[in-house]
Amino acid sequence: MAPRLVPSSVLDTIKTLDPEHGAHIGGQGLSTGRTFGVRDKATGDVLADYADGGVAEATAAVDAAAAAFPGWAATAPRVRSEALRRAFELMVARTDELAALISAENGKALADARAEVTYAAEFFRWFAEEAVRPDGDFAESPAGGTRTIVTSRPVGVSALVTPWNFPAAMATRKIGPALAAGCTVVLKPASETPLTALAVARILEEAGVPAGVVNVVATTDAGAVVGAWLADARVRKISFTGSTGVGSLLLGQAAERIVNSSMELGGNAPFVVAADADLDAAVAGAMIAKFRNGGQACTAANRFYVHADVVEEFVAKFGAAIEALQVGSAFEDGTAVGPLISAKAVAGTTALVEDALARGARIAHQAGSSELDGHFYPPTLLVDVPADAEVVRNEIFGPIAPVVTWTEDEEMLRQVNDTELGLAAYVFSGDLRWALKTAERIEAGMVGVNRGVVSDPSAPFGGVKQSGLGREGARDGVRAFTETQYFSVDWS
Ligand code: NAD
Repeated sequence: MAPRLVPSSVLDTIKTLDPEHGAHIGGQGLSTGRTFGVRDKATGDVLADYADGGVAEATAAVDAAAAAFPGWAATAPRVRSEALRRAFELMVARTDELAALISAENGKALADARAEVTYAAEFFRWFAEEAVRPDGDFAESPAGGTRTIVTSRPVGVSALVTPWNFPAAMATRKIGPALAAGCTVVLKPASETPLTALAVARILEEAGVPAGVVNVVATTDAGAVVGAWLADARVRKISFTGSTGVGSLLLGQAAERIVNSSMELGGNAPFVVAADADLDAAVAGAMIAKFRNGGQACTAANRFYVHADVVEEFVAKFGAAIEALQVGSAFEDGTAVGPLISAKAVAGTTALVEDALARGARIAHQAGSSELDGHFYPPTLLVDVPADAEVVRNEIFGPIAPVVTWTEDEEMLRQVNDTELGLAAYVFSGDLRWALKTAERIEAGMVGVNRGVVSDPSAPFGGVKQSGLGREGARDGVRAFTETQYFSVDWS
C-alpha cells in the first residue's frame, strides 16, 4: 500500500496563506520578486514557493512595526489581553489544520504537531493573563521625604528569530509576551518552516491585533535580514532561539548598539536513572524526553546515565519501546517519528553514531526506517558508550539514545556537568530527597524530576552557561520585553 502523504486539505491551507506574498508587513501580504521552496521533509517535494525577503523587506517591516508601536503601547492592557485570548481560542479551534501544516513543513508526527499547537496556543492564553498584571512598585525612600515610583515600559520594536523545530511554539513564546508588554515585532522564522509562522501572524490579526504590530519576513539570507534589524536604531530588542553558535554571533552584533538580548540556545540534557527509580516511569519519561519531535528538541534527553544495578533492565524496556516506534511520513497512520529536517541532519547523526561505534559502543536496539526519500534516521539505542564519545559531548538533535553506566554519585555528577551547555536535565529516583539534592547540583536551567517534560508556559524556560541568557514563559517572559523606569518624587 502506498504511504499516505500530505493531504489535499493541507495544500488548500497553504494556498489560502498565499506564501508567494508571504512577506507579511503592515498587515499586507507582499511579494518580494524572489521565492524559495518550502519542502515536505518526508518526500523532499516542494510544498510551496515562499517570498524570499531581503534587506528592503527587513527595513519595511521595521517601518511598519515602528509606526504601529506608539498606538499598541498605548492600547489598554485589557484590550491587548483580549486580542491574545482570541488568538488562543482561534488556534485551539484550528488545531487540526495547524497541526497538519506543521507536520507538512517540519515532518514531525501528527501527534507531536497537535501537542505543539496546544503548547503554542497556551502561550497566548498565559500572556493574555499576564498582560493585565503589569509590574510596578511604590515606596517611601529610606531617607524619608521623597517617594519612589517604579513602573515598566515596553522595550520597543523587537526582532524575533526562531528555529524550525517548533515552528508555532517558538513564535508564540516570543510574540505572546512581546504583545502583552506593548511591543511590536518583526519575526524571522526559519526558512525550513515559514508557513506556520505566517499562519500565526494571520490569526493574530484576525483576533484583533492591528496591522503592523506583527510583521514576518522569511528569507534564505538570515544574516542580511537579522543584520539589518540589529543595525537599525529603531530595533531595541533581539529575542533569539536557535543554536549556540548563531546566538553568539548575534550577541556580538547586538553589542555594537547595546541591543537588549534574550537567547534560548542549544542543550545537551542528561537523563539520570537511579538504582531505586520506577523503571516503567523512567522509560515512559525517556520516550518523551528523547523521541518527542524525533529528538529534534533543545530539551531532548541527549545522554542517559543509568545506574549499573538497573542498566540491563532499563535497556531491555527502553529498547523494546524504541523498536515499537513506527518511522514514516507524519500522515501515515501510526507514525511516531518522522524524518529529520535535512540531509545535513542525517549526516551529522550518522557521524555521531559511527564515532560512538568506533570507540566501542554497540547498537543494542533499533527501530525500522522508512522507504520514503526524506531525511529519515531510525531511532537507535546505543550501549557501552564511553564518556568521551562525541554523541554524549554534542547536542545530537536526532533519535539516538546513548546509555552510559554509572555507580558513584560524584563521578556521575562530574560527567553530567562536564559540558558548556546547561538547558534541561532529567532525574528519576524513588527517593525524592536524593533526586532533589541531585537536581540542585546539576548545572541546568530546568530539571524534570520523575518526568520527561519540562516545557510549561507558566514556568521560566531557559538555560545556564552557553544554553542562553534570560527566561521565556512565566512572569519572566513579559519582563524580557519591558524596561524598568522609576520616578523619584518630592511632593513635600
Ligand atoms: P540555527 O541557529 O541554525 O537557526 C535558528 C534561527 O537563526 C533560524 O531562523 C535561522 O535562519 C537563523 N539564523 C541562522 N544563521 C543566522 C545568522 N547568521 N544571522 C541571523 N540569523 C541566523 O538553529 P536551528 O538549527 O534552526 O535550530 C536548532 C538549534 O536551536 C539547536 O541548537 C537547539 O537546541 C536550539 N533550540 C533552542 C531552544 C531553546 O529554547 N533553548 C529551542 C529550540 C531550539
